Amino acid sequence: MRFHSTRDVKLAYTSAQAITQGLSKDGGLFVPDAFPKLAAGQLEELSSMDYPHRAAAVMGMFLEDFSAGELAAFTEKAYGSQFDDPSIAPVRRIDENTAALELWHGPTCAFKDMALQMLPLLLTASMKKTGETRRACILTATSGDTGKAALEGFRDVPGTKIMVFYPKDGVSDVQALQMTSQEGANVGVSAVYGNFDDAQAGVKKIFSDEAFREELDGKGWFLSSANSINLGRLLPQVVYYVSAYCDMAAAGMVRMGEPVNFCVPTGNFGNILAGFYARQMGLPVKKLICASNANDVLTDFISTGTYDRNRPFFTTISPSMDILVSSNLERMLFHLSGGDDGFVRKCMEGLASEGKYTVPEDLMAALREIFACGCCGEEGTREQISRIFTAHGYLIDTHTAVAYRVLEDYRASTGDMTPAAVVSTASPYKFCGAVLEAIGGAAEGSGVELIDRLSEKSGVRIPEPLAALKGKQPRFTQCVSKQEMQEAVRSFIG
Ligand SMILES: *Cc1c(COP(=O)(O)O)cnc(C)c1O
Repeated sequence: MRFHSTRDVKLAYTSAQAITQGLSKDGGLFVPDAFPKLAAGQLEELSSMDYPHRAAAVMGMFLEDFSAGELAAFTEKAYGSQFDDPSIAPVRRIDENTAALELWHGPTCAFKDMALQMLPLLLTASMKKTGETRRACILTATSGDTGKAALEGFRDVPGTKIMVFYPKDGVSDVQALQMTSQEGANVGVSAVYGNFDDAQAGVKKIFSDEAFREELDGKGWFLSSANSINLGRLLPQVVYYVSAYCDMAAAGMVRMGEPVNFCVPTGNFGNILAGFYARQMGLPVKKLICASNANDVLTDFISTGTYDRNRPFFTTISPSMDILVSSNLERMLFHLSGGDDGFVRKCMEGLASEGKYTVPEDLMAALREIFACGCCGEEGTREQISRIFTAHGYLIDTHTAVAYRVLEDYRASTGDMTPAAVVSTASPYKFCGAVLEAIGGAAEGSGVELIDRLSEKSGVRIPEPLAALKGKQPRFTQCVSKQEMQEAVRSFIG
């Protein structure tokens, strides 16, 4: 299997090369030249395995230049005791035909761990395979959860350094302290004035600066990304869709072979794109429901066919979805257009110059066969948290609440009652202020103090890594402008 750039299919690489590079040099994203197919009986086989073995089997179908033994060793390590649930990605049934796929049992309590516990292992192995002798400087812009998960994944990994930029006022108190108190000798963290798109644009600019890359090269470093555009992040995410299906079948929610729906709280389109990859492999998925918060650029896109980022940006209580440019959508455009790199280039040029592009109606029709969409504002988010807690004693975070609400709206408007999993992307304790308020608690004070109050009010156990945050002091206090980011990287590498 080869991986191509979405903007130039003539560029073809092995998976190790694609993972090492992160982003193609023409600005495109790496995509597989075909989707491997689940064989007859393979889902039953996977059902009898634990999560690390499921992960090795599913990823192995894409990663042909990695041996089965190698992948098994990696998944054993990535999905081990740092998760506080032996199922790693447990499916929790909420009612007759609804479940929550809990992706937040890892060390940073958000779904990013599912990929970022794995990526450092894939990346360092890929560097060896490709003969890369320079060291990797991981550069990441984060809307909150990626940063911490990447820091935790790469901390003290030999041959790497990691620098994380987060928007100063775009992350929760808990998220900020999680990052600024990060331990490890090879880590750096800086706030950026502005929102997530500012931070992400700053990082993209550094990546595309040839002179800067040469300068680093002279010092024995190259830049790599831990953002969800890296193939090494996308593939581990495919696993939990397959795994969830096996678990839903085992629990009797669906008969093996019958379809399910997934409703995914979406920002950069990485999580839901992995669901699409699983579906392309033959996983019985009817609809992938794309849920947005008040930043409803994807809802509008799926409804109208025009992607238009020219709109107000809202800072919401589900900040990991506060995104106006969903990078991974580029892969979707590539696959839906049958691999038309010229079409993808044209869309991305439109996005760069005018902030928008329009997709022809026939492609949109194909997209709507697979994807449904919906959005949910702040009030709806709070209401949903309160309602699910009251009705089921189940506490969900703000992002999960958006998806849950969108699933309910989807069911009400379509009548499609296919068994569904709401993809639950964060522990409610990462967003305690908003969650506490939603269930009727008083939410004055800073996020970290609120952890205890949420626990008293809800009776739900505090995840260990968040309990340990109390009393931690920030190690990193720097805040820079978008223009100063490159200099910050330069002095971090030294
Ligand atoms: C990153 C994140 C999302 C959005 O995922 P994408 O892959 O960017 O679509 C949703 N919820 C939480 C809690 C996240 O951390």
